[in-house]
Amino acid sequence: DISKLERIDETCWRIPATGKMRVPVLIYADEDLIRDMDDKVAEQAGNVASLPGIVGACYVMPDAHWGYGFPIGGVAAFDPAEGGVISAGGVGFDISCGVRTLTTGLKREEVEPLKKSLAEALFIHIPAGVGSKGSISLNDAEMDAMLKGGATWAVKQGYGREEDLERIEEHGCMAGADPAQVSKRARERQRREMGTLGSGNHYLEVQVVEEIFNPDVAKVFGLEADEVVVTIHCGSRGLGHQIGSEYLKLMQKAAKEAGIELPDRELACAPIRSPVGQRYLGAMRAGINCALANRQIITHLVRKVFAEFFPDHDLKLIYDVSHNTCKEEEHEVGGKRRRVFVHRKGATRAFGPGHPALPEAFRLVGQPVIIGGSMGTGSYILVGTTESERRSLSSACHGAGRCLSRRQATKTWKGQQVIAELERQGIIVCSPSMRGVAEEAPQAYKPVDAVVRAADKAGLARLVARLRPLVCIKG
Ligand code: 5GP
Ligand code: MN
Ligand code: MN
Repeated sequence: DISKLERIDETCWRIPATGKMRVPVLIYADEDLIRDMDDKVAEQAGNVASLPGIVGACYVMPDAHWGYGFPIGGVAAFDPAEGGVISAGGVGFDISCGVRTLTTGLKREEVEPLKKSLAEALFIHIPAGVGSKGSISLNDAEMDAMLKGGATWAVKQGYGREEDLERIEEHGCMAGADPAQVSKRARERQRREMGTLGSGNHYLEVQVVEEIFNPDVAKVFGLEADEVVVTIHCGSRGLGHQIGSEYLKLMQKAAKEAGIELPDRELACAPIRSPVGQRYLGAMRAGINCALANRQIITHLVRKVFAEFFPDHDLKLIYDVSHNTCKEEEHEVGGKRRRVFVHRKGATRAFGPGHPALPEAFRLVGQPVIIGGSMGTGSYILVGTTESERRSLSSACHGAGRCLSRRQATKTWKGQQVIAELERQGIIVCSPSMRGVAEEAPQAYKPVDAVVRAADKAGLARLVARLRPLVCIKG
């Protein structure tokens, strides 16, 4: 209900803190996106705003939609010194789900004639689908090393190269991971899932750079108009999901014991400075490493396929960004610099120029913010800004965001029909699941152009380039 929102400016809407809310909610969106936004989003953000130790505001990105407890596209930071909490539902069940984009140095016309066989080869070599298994199997010691080392471990195993690591958040390895907090069941689920895409929303795309909005930054990122890039979207597979489910239960108990009144059971959380809070942090960080390793292994598989088709071309990683995390960061909130735990659920970290966590290559311009659209509409690359620190704790949207539920989508379309229509548009889609394809029909997502324009206008991140898919391997 738009009438309950205070309009701050063209792309910022505020729900003042009332009742149990400790901080306001700030929603970034234009008028059309706000009007079409699920009412549940404001309700869920209001609930998050009532959790102990939250600072600043509960921030909502323009791609937001209803999620488990926290909205997807929600950002919330908690101060441990003020009883701040950490929540498994605030990170999301696919811990460190994220995207990475690689340049190929190939022009569209070089790939276009081969795109069908390229799609088939990628589909054969990169396992996709529910419970998809890879050829890698990890024993207990290897599992521990992977959970500690992330992409750094993967590179040591021969998947990719040293220089990739600089181009990954946390330089490829999340510190503070505690494999001892990852259960046997979580490990068991992951044992054969390294280097697999997973299902549904996850994808591997061969895309062409269709438009450049900011040539200077595009150059720094290595993007050129008409060039082909590859984007990989996936996360921590069965392991992340298992961690999320287990800690959700533990947090329900922990919240009760800490006397935290939960406005919604799904917001189960534990004080950061509590045994369950600390254990979850250790497990979640191990989950982040699992996702980083997974995307690194997939990168290696993609490079092998490309080498068969284009032996003298090299795939270079632009950047790898996660969009389901909780990270300890320093931010200025309420006129004070504090160390806070920032939950970004379906939101991208978007550090601006000069941030010390960024690799040298991006220091002058800010970090790449990689945004999915849909398999039909295209995707975007943006760049982090200085203003976003103040506006959204250095966060931006992560996609277009769903506008139809999976159920609504499967009622409306058939997978085959979606594939045929996309083929007419020159986009080859391969998937083990026709139902999955229907659920992911382009029209099931909000208009990505409007979402990124709103993010740009709000100063959360600035437009750099638009990508259009040639090939989509769908989970
Ligand atoms: P999520 O991580 O929330 O599952 O998905 C992130 C975003 O990816 C979605 O909001 C959606 O806009 C985008 N997306 C989903 N499927 C596809 C796809 O097949 N291709 C592209 N390019 N983007 C997609
Ligand atoms: Mn995911
Ligand atoms: Mn994701």
